[in-house]
Amino acid sequence: MRVLVTGGLGYIGSHTCVQMIEAGMTPIIVDNLYNSKTTVLARIEKLTGVLPLFYQGDICDRDFLDNVFHLNDIDAVIHFAGLKAVNESVDAPLEYYKNNVHGTLVLVEAMQAASVNTMVFSSSATVYGEPATTPVTEEFPTKAINPYGRSKLMVEECLVDIQKAHPEMSITLLRYFNPVGAHPSGEMGEDPQGIPNNLMPFISQVAVGRREYLSVFGNDYPTVDGTGVRDYIHVLDLADGHLAALNHKGKEAGLHIYNLGTGNGFSVLQMVEAFSKSSGVEVAYQIAPRRPGDIAECWADPGKAKRELHWEATRTIDDMTTDTWRWQSNNPNGYPDA
Ligand code: NAD
Ligand code: UDP
Repeated sequence: MRVLVTGGLGYIGSHTCVQMIEAGMTPIIVDNLYNSKTTVLARIEKLTGVLPLFYQGDICDRDFLDNVFHLNDIDAVIHFAGLKAVNESVDAPLEYYKNNVHGTLVLVEAMQAASVNTMVFSSSATVYGEPATTPVTEEFPTKAINPYGRSKLMVEECLVDIQKAHPEMSITLLRYFNPVGAHPSGEMGEDPQGIPNNLMPFISQVAVGRREYLSVFGNDYPTVDGTGVRDYIHVLDLADGHLAALNHKGKEAGLHIYNLGTGNGFSVLQMVEAFSKSSGVEVAYQIAPRRPGDIAECWADPGKAKRELHWEATRTIDDMTTDTWRWQSNNPNGYPDA
């Protein structure tokens, strides 16, 4: 299967490309390098023995996309490309709506022009807003609380309408919980530019000495130890979820929605402790005020993906922290420049 992977040089996209190649699929990568480096390609080749085709360009550029579809006989699209930082989205909503919403619409137009009917889209648990209870099923009401979340929800709504009007299409919305971890080889991992927004890369940068201490955003939530609880999922389990979605739903016309999570919640302090244990490095932290917009706790009910995609997360918290540390300690400054 030849799959166009937008954002394929990014964190989740690159790990998915490795899993695809190992499963005998052919990823064709499109990325504008806004948040990634071409040196990722060499790592994919080192791990798999295959250098995937790569086109540098923007998903908002219809001519560029038409050319990629024209040059390649593409069966399906996995659409990772987009902007993902909540804080940044508050300051630059226009960029978020342009890249995430407009970019997706241009991509769907190009797919239709090329008669490609299958898309798997990277959505997020953020579309559940502050869920009334946990675990969260796909039936829960959706509500976005910042421009990033709204852009994901808008894309979901657009894709629902587009699929209704084009019933031959297979569109799968994958709602990720909290992706963490790295390839166990230590060759690939998360490489955020600037100060990390997310917990795990912040912890690992403290451990490797790039940052002094972690600010724990709030210890007065109604949770196990007062700190926020999330459903952390290993990036390779997440990557495998995309393969399962393509294999089980890619040929089935319709609109499909799945949570990709483990079904388990861990607090910030539990993650700090797990990381210290696997790395052998004490992670310094200080309690700080709550981060605006954060919720107390959220974890998935992943049952639907297990039943229908025959997929479930198998990697443990120890795998997540050990693999993150191997990547971070081998590559303290992330990927080298090209
Ligand atoms: P990432 O930033 O590492 O990867 C995204 C890639 O898309 C980058 O390589 C970037 O250069 C590229 N890109 C961005 N805009 C583009 C454009 N207009 N044209 C072409 N390429 C473009 O992010 P990630 O963590 O791998 O996330 C992938 C997807 O999953 C995103 O859509 C994100 O919103 C979604 N998601 C991520 C998380 C998370 O915590 N990482 C959680 C839920 C959902
Ligand atoms: N968090 C924290 N310090 C940080 C980053 C995150 O305490 O520097 C907490 C955050 O408040 C939340 C959890 O870690 O409870 C996960 O946050 P992240 O930004 O990784 O993911 P989110 O679930 O917010 O998308």
